Amino acid sequence: MANILIVEDEKPINNLIRKNLEAVGHSCTSAFDGEAVFNELEKQQFDLILLDIMLPKMDGFEVLAHIEGMPVIYLTARDSVDDRVRGLKLGADDYITKPFHVIELQARVEAVLRRAQKTDKTFVLRDVEVDLHGRLVYFKGALVDFTPQEYALVETFIKNRNIALSRDKLLEIAWGYEFGGDTRTVDAHISRIRKKLHWEDTIKTVYKLGYRLEARHEA
Ligand code: CA
Repeated sequence: MANILIVEDEKPINNLIRKNLEAVGHSCTSAFDGEAVFNELEKQQFDLILLDIMLPKMDGFEVLAHIEGMPVIYLTARDSVDDRVRGLKLGADDYITKPFHVIELQARVEAVLRRAQKTDKTFVLRDVEVDLHGRLVYFKGALVDFTPQEYALVETFIKNRNIALSRDKLLEIAWGYEFGGDTRTVDAHISRIRKKLHWEDTIKTVYKLGYRLEARHEA
């Protein structure tokens, strides 16, 4: 049984999802616009968010860019390939195309919940330990002071370890779409992270692209 937040502005769809997930034992909360997500997140902990993309006040992509460390399945129109790719790139776990069958919805929800429970809570790489639930970073057992952006970058590297990440992607993940900042900001933050974690050789610079976390020998 999981606690699920359903974000969908079309009330009949929201009710349909809710009814079907409650029928299999989950407890659900409904939200009808993007901003309401953040009010709900302040009030309670959720195991999963079902997130529509087309929402009033703040669309699903914007919401997605601001929530981390929580399983998300987003709802998208069947013909929008761009939306599907964009959502997954932003870190969503899965998507469901509308209109959907209730059985598919339930299957995807169960699969994502199963995967989330199996996800490592801690990442260890030599002297560095990252508590992915508490969002805390330790070096040789001592807590390291991290800004939210630095933490977001480290978490992104961990989730995409051994994969080259562009500066643009890192910028988008750590600061969100609205920031529109300079990619040199990323370089400055990476340089601080390298210093704090002694990761000078662990975060590799990828020529003309960005960076890669080298984690072949993680504990
Ligand atoms: Ca909608």
